[in-house]
Amino acid sequence: MSFVSHLACSRCRATYPAGRIHHLCTACGSPLVVEYDLERIATAVQPRDLLERPATMWRYAELLPVTGAPVTLGEGFTPLLPAPGLGERFGLPHLWIKDDGLNPTGTFKARGASAGISMAAALGVKEVGLPTAGNAGGAWAAYGAAAGITVHVAMPSDAPAANRAECAAYGANVTTVDGLIDDAAAVINEGVRQHGWYDAAGMREPYRVEGKKTFGLEIAEQMGWSMPQAIVYPTGGGIGLIGMWRAFLQMRDLGWVHGDLPRLIAVQAAGCAPVVRAILEGEEDTERWEQAETVASGLRVPMATGHRMTLRAIRDTGGTAVAVSDRQILQTMALAAAATGVLPCPEGAAAVAAVPMLREAGHLDPADRVVVINTGSALKYPREVDYPVGAA
Ligand SMILES: *Cc1c(COP(=O)(O)O)cnc(C)c1O
Ligand SMILES: [Zn+2]
Repeated sequence: MSFVSHLACSRCRATYPAGRIHHLCTACGSPLVVEYDLERIATAVQPRDLLERPATMWRYAELLPVTGAPVTLGEGFTPLLPAPGLGERFGLPHLWIKDDGLNPTGTFKARGASAGISMAAALGVKEVGLPTAGNAGGAWAAYGAAAGITVHVAMPSDAPAANRAECAAYGANVTTVDGLIDDAAAVINEGVRQHGWYDAAGMREPYRVEGKKTFGLEIAEQMGWSMPQAIVYPTGGGIGLIGMWRAFLQMRDLGWVHGDLPRLIAVQAAGCAPVVRAILEGEEDTERWEQAETVASGLRVPMATGHRMTLRAIRDTGGTAVAVSDRQILQTMALAAAATGVLPCPEGAAAVAAVPMLREAGHLDPADRVVVINTGSALKYPREVDYPVGAA
């Protein structure tokens, strides 16, 4: 049974029927989002019903677009860990780390790929194509393999070696480009035009963000159906942030949570910070960041289809955006590992590195409950990062 009512344009609100292949809004070119019949969901399921369900993101089936059996590898429901050591260091007694490094393929990209490939399969798709900074390629390749769908991936030639290797191992076709994720998109667009591949680029299909939405659902459930005051998130394409925003709004409409939404705080690398720049300058949209460069490859997204929505999610929740240097990122990997037992990926370390800056600038208060998201495992970057020590 599906609780999806229709799809809607995130900008002009044009509507589209569910159950068919859609990409961007044909009227204005903006991303589409899935709309649910929340009244029906409210009568069909209560938070307490979830206790019986499997510890994956599919425990929230009513709030996900897939009707049949999903393509799953056990993604989601990752631990929300209290981080008292870090909290003491940063003057924030109520600090948690959500460790998404424990997902299949080692990053939270598994959430988006599980939802996206499940929907592609349900829509009868045989071949998908996507540009990636690295980790999305690995995740879609894995779920494509599980579903018997052919996956075409294009990524920067200097993406982490593990990403190329995992894509190849899962049987995906990999093209590397001398450039960044938006240059890789040109290769995929060509395959979409010439061979009819299903375009699975971030926010160009409406379901990946639904998978990433489960971050928000899990955080609320793991906090006893309440919301933290702030969430600190390493932002590339911004899809995770957009997903959480949607999740909290939907849960509040359902009456599952009450009060103010968490302030959504985007952290970017100083070498690629289009969202931070747009927030500081009060712009409604981002401009492409030229010569993007950072060790946090998942944050190397100079321009994203969903950035306008990312900015709205940040502003509507009273959040902010901040950039950290690669030096801070590398030092924080070891610092966070030693203080928590979680060795974060460079992107997750960026989020941790931002916390003391946010605290100093008054964006985080000692009374706040703060969740920092570690989006992946450091073990996916064995060649790129030699886990510097002695940073404390
Ligand atoms: C993709 C990625 C990000 C950024 O996620 P978005 O949803 O695109 O903002 C952060 N961390 C890691 C490890 C990633 O792979
Ligand atoms: Zn539109």
